[in-house]
Amino acid sequence: MYTVTLIPGDGIGPEISDATRRVLDATGVPLQWDVQEAGAVVAEQTGTALPDSVIESVRRNKVALKGPITTPVGKGFRSVNVGLRKALDLYANVRPCKTRPGVRSRYEKIDLVVVRENTEDLYAGIEFNEGAPETAELIAWIAQRNGARIRPDSAISIKPISITGSRRIVRFAFEYARSNRRRKVSAVHKANIMKATDGLYLRVAEEVARDYPDIAFENVIVDNMCMQLVQKPDLYDVLALPNLYGDIVSDLCAGLVGGLGVAPGANIGEGVALFEPIHGSAPKYAGLNKVNPMAMMFSGAMMLHHLGEHDAADRLEGVLDGLIAEGKYVTYDLKPIRDDPTALGTAEVADEIVRRLQA
Ligand code: NAD
Repeated sequence: MYTVTLIPGDGIGPEISDATRRVLDATGVPLQWDVQEAGAVVAEQTGTALPDSVIESVRRNKVALKGPITTPVGKGFRSVNVGLRKALDLYANVRPCKTRPGVRSRYEKIDLVVVRENTEDLYAGIEFNEGAPETAELIAWIAQRNGARIRPDSAISIKPISITGSRRIVRFAFEYARSNRRRKVSAVHKANIMKATDGLYLRVAEEVARDYPDIAFENVIVDNMCMQLVQKPDLYDVLALPNLYGDIVSDLCAGLVGGLGVAPGANIGEGVALFEPIHGSAPKYAGLNKVNPMAMMFSGAMMLHHLGEHDAADRLEGVLDGLIAEGKYVTYDLKPIRDDPTALGTAEVADEIVRRLQA
C-alpha cells in the first residue's frame, strides 16, 4: 500500500483531482490518499493558504499529487506553489513534452523531457531596486572591485549558480534518462557570454556526464537551442537547464506539442516528489465539470512510474492516448471545434477511462 498526499487545490483543482483519483484507483495499484487542503478556501478559513500540516504530510509520505492552486496577483497570500517548492526544496522541475495523435500541434514525433533547476539563478529573488541606497552601494562596490561601470539609475538582479545546484540538477537529468530508457541529455547554457555562472554550469555538466557513458551528452547554447527546437524538435530527448532558461524553454516545448489540457509535470527534491499538471486553476471553469482532467491523470501516471508501478502507468497512458486519438470521449479542448456539443464533461471522461482500465 502506498500512502500519497493528495492536494486537490482550488478552482478546477477539486474536480480534476476527483477524476484522477478514481482513475488511479482503477489501475489496481493499492493507493491510500492522505487528502490535504491548501489554497484559497483554506486561506479564508484559517488565514494561511499553506498549513504546516500539508508540508508535514508530503514529508511523511514522500509522494504527493497536487491540483492547481490560484495565486492572487498583487495581494493576498503568497504563492502556495512557491511555498511548497521552498519548504520541500523541490529542486528539479520535470516536464515531459510529447506529441500525441489527436492533440492539435504543428509537429509530429516530439518526445522530449525538460528538466529545469528550480532553486537558484536569476530567480533566486536577490534583487536591488533602482534608487535604493543599497543599490548605490553595490554599484560603487562593483566599480571599485571589478572596474565595471553600472549606470546609477539601474536596478540589479543577482544570478547565483552553484556547483552544488548544477551538479544535482544535471545528475538528476542523467538518472531520469537512465531510469526512463532515454538516450541523450543536452545541457543548455550561455557559457560563451556568462563565463562565470553558465561556464560553471557547463563545466559541472561535463564532469557529471563522464559518470554516464551509457547516455549521450551534448551542450547547446540557449539561443541556438530555441531555433533547433522550432526546426528539428525530434532530435532532442532530455534537456537539462538552469532556472531562467528552463522556465522559457519549457513553455516553448509545451507550445510545440499543444494542449495544456494534457501536459503533466513533476517537482522533485531529495526523497520527495510532487506531481501536478502544468496548467493553472482556470477559475472561470471552476465547478462546471468541463475541463480536461488528463493533464492531472498523466501526472498521476508519472507518479506511478516514480513508485515503480510501470505496468499500471503504461496501461493508464495507453488508455489516455487511445481516447485522445479516437477523439470521442474527450472534453471540449480536444474537439476540432471548441463548442462541439458531443464534448464530454470532466467526470464522464473519467467514467470512460475507469471502464477501460477495468475491462
Ligand atoms: P490556467 O492554466 O489556469 O488557464 C488558462 C486557460 O487554459 C484556461 O482559461 C483554459 O482555457 C485553459 N485550460 C487550463 N487548464 C485546462 C484544462 N485542464 N482543460 C481545458 N482547458 C484548460 O492559467 P491562468 O489563467 O494564467 O492561471 C489561473 C490561476 O492558476 C492563477 O492564479 C495562477 O497563478 C494559477 N496557476 C497555478 C499553477 C499551479 O498550481 N501549479 C500553475 C499555473 C497557474
